Amino acid sequence: MFQFDPSKRILDHESHDQFDGVNPSITDSSTFAFRSPETMEELFDHEIEGCFLYSRHWNPTNKHLATGLAALEDTESAQVTASGMGAISCALLQLCQQGDQILASRTIYGGTYALLKNFLPRFGITTRFVDITDVDVVARALNDNVKVIFCESIANPLLHVADIKTLRELADRVGAKLVVDNTFSPLVITPVHLGAHVVIHSLTKFINGHSDCVAGAVCGTDEFVHQLTDINMGAGMLLGPVLDSFRSASILKNLHTLHIRMQKHSANAAFLADKLNALGLPTHYPGLKEHPQHELMKAQMNEDFGFGGILTLDAGDHISANRLMLLMQQRKVGFLAVSLGYFRTLFSAPGSSTSSEIPKDEQAEMGLSGGLVRMSVGLDQNIEETYDVLVGCLRDVGIVR
Ligand SMILES: *Cc1c(COP(=O)(O)O)cnc(C)c1O
Repeated sequence: MFQFDPSKRILDHESHDQFDGVNPSITDSSTFAFRSPETMEELFDHEIEGCFLYSRHWNPTNKHLATGLAALEDTESAQVTASGMGAISCALLQLCQQGDQILASRTIYGGTYALLKNFLPRFGITTRFVDITDVDVVARALNDNVKVIFCESIANPLLHVADIKTLRELADRVGAKLVVDNTFSPLVITPVHLGAHVVIHSLTKFINGHSDCVAGAVCGTDEFVHQLTDINMGAGMLLGPVLDSFRSASILKNLHTLHIRMQKHSANAAFLADKLNALGLPTHYPGLKEHPQHELMKAQMNEDFGFGGILTLDAGDHISANRLMLLMQQRKVGFLAVSLGYFRTLFSAPGSSTSSEIPKDEQAEMGLSGGLVRMSVGLDQNIEETYDVLVGCLRDVGIVR
């Protein structure tokens, strides 16, 4: 376990003068006035630090949020984007060109899977999908054309944990970059400490935590973020994934409570996972000692934030899963909805929703059964009571006796 407290760094990153608002003011401008034509020319020639030109490039509010996210991930810099997919597509298009290959985990977010499998080949960028938990398979799949190894630190559907340190060593063999999507585990895992070059977030999930907007971020070195935002060659500039400054400001405020929320999400998920596991239900949670990467997870995680807020349970078959989720919604365990990191529990069946882009035979191969239910556990104060209601639902569907 690592003794790294990013929450303190997030809280510390802003400095204010007396009489400033405690929250940074929101920049409500798409463009910025220059004091002289010479300064404007200079800025177009080479970016001047702390100088703003046009909001698709940078604006002060987005800079505040980006600085907070860089503090969270302990990277030199970050760029915020209008969605997690915007962050992923820009990072990958910045790192790869025609003829390059990506080596990706086969257990990734459905949108990322579709991007890699269906869309990027149009530009001559092809992807091989591998079982990322089998490092021998990853090693054998390497070749000189591989420019990126892409994985999620904790991944759908069975919450497999990536061995980030080893993947970095493998990436170094061919000079590839290791890109890690850390959406499931902000604060819990700090991928750059383990060797990741670039860290991606869908801010839509835990970081914002209120399911009221879609946003994303790319965290990395100063050099990489400069490349991304370069006026002439940056995917983050030219593809136009800019986040609106009003949203940036509201996400920044939510970022400041992330540490408290993650602790509660993790504690509640661990409680439910333990209990469901004890009932004999097939339950997947990195905090369970039966989880195949439980020891790896312990070696990679930071102190204090637990094993994350997501668990999955197997209801046996698709029909039982659907009946279970309907009852859970009726009895107010939470909402039948995709996404995660909300303060209420959200649940869905990944096989027919968030991972439906993945063909059925591949789903079966990766252990994604039709009965699998993913739960993003909410911030319930009385999780014992939630558990009692949940067990009632499981009984009434006939999943437990
Ligand atoms: C939701 C999600 C994304 C995509 O993020 P959006 O904000 O919806 O574009 C990417 N990766 C993971 C792991 C996700 O859960």
